Amino acid sequence: MECRACAKLNLYLDITGTLPDGYHQLRSVMQSITLWDVVDVEAADVITLSVDKPYVPTDERNTAYKAAKAFFAASGIDGGADIKIKKRIPVGAGMAGGSADAAAVLNLLNIIYGLPLNQERLAEVAASVGADVPFCLEGGTMLCEGKGEILTPLPRLRRCGIVVVKPAFSVSTRTAYAMFDELGGDCPPIDGMLSALKNRDLHAVCQAMGNDLEKCIALKYPEIDLIKRQLLDAGAIGAMMTGSGSAVFGIFKDRESAARASGVLRGPGRLVYTAEPV
Ligand code: ATP
Repeated sequence: MECRACAKLNLYLDITGTLPDGYHQLRSVMQSITLWDVVDVEAADVITLSVDKPYVPTDERNTAYKAAKAFFAASGIDGGADIKIKKRIPVGAGMAGGSADAAAVLNLLNIIYGLPLNQERLAEVAASVGADVPFCLEGGTMLCEGKGEILTPLPRLRRCGIVVVKPAFSVSTRTAYAMFDELGGDCPPIDGMLSALKNRDLHAVCQAMGNDLEKCIALKYPEIDLIKRQLLDAGAIGAMMTGSGSAVFGIFKDRESAARASGVLRGPGRLVYTAEPV
């Protein structure tokens, strides 16, 4: 079986504290977008994995591999899987590419092996694989709290165009959080975002966007602010870094405006994508 594993953007990311196990506690609004990896899973005797990008690991370090292992451990099934990933989501971009692949593998294995795990158990297994995996199982527009595993569906984002720009550099999630611990963030209160989504007001959503990790990453990498400026100059209603970066996105009134703007954003080493909310 094959499925699309969609990337996410953070429309909002507030780091509200640190948990006893060292993880950060979040209040985040995540949005799936029409940029995806293609994940193919076939039943087999052992777990094997191939990825069409040489820089992505294909062993136990890969989140898709971890997900398959966790699935068989949780279901008690003595099985395996032949997993093939066509990678389209940029890596180390703050777009949950690895988590999306893991969620796709969990969903597909559960179907292939006859639904041994109910949705609740599947979500628990997802959380054990990674903080963003429970969101990727569900997708859409969600409030994500705790480490990211406590999900509340939100009114969906209005139809719009999105341009995503991934600069040549990547940021590791660990580095981003370490910088936040040192420098702090500047995320506004969440009320504005929640009421903007409820009112289906795209301009208000853009005004209410905030990301606690952006300020510190932009201090180290000035290209983040440059891309934001370029997106706004090209007509974006709002622009922000997603997650721990390095990708920056702009929200446009429709896909056509986004497609026109994407041409201006191209540059050496940059990857530029046009997408819509899922
Ligand atoms: P997040 O938004 O969840 O913080 P990210 O988009 O910043 O994630 P990923 O692209 O998921 O980061 O990958 C980060 C690291 O994980 C990379 O170093 C990559 O080698 C490794 N990795 C493991 N499994 C995968 C996978 N299936 N796809 C991409 N990267 C993977």
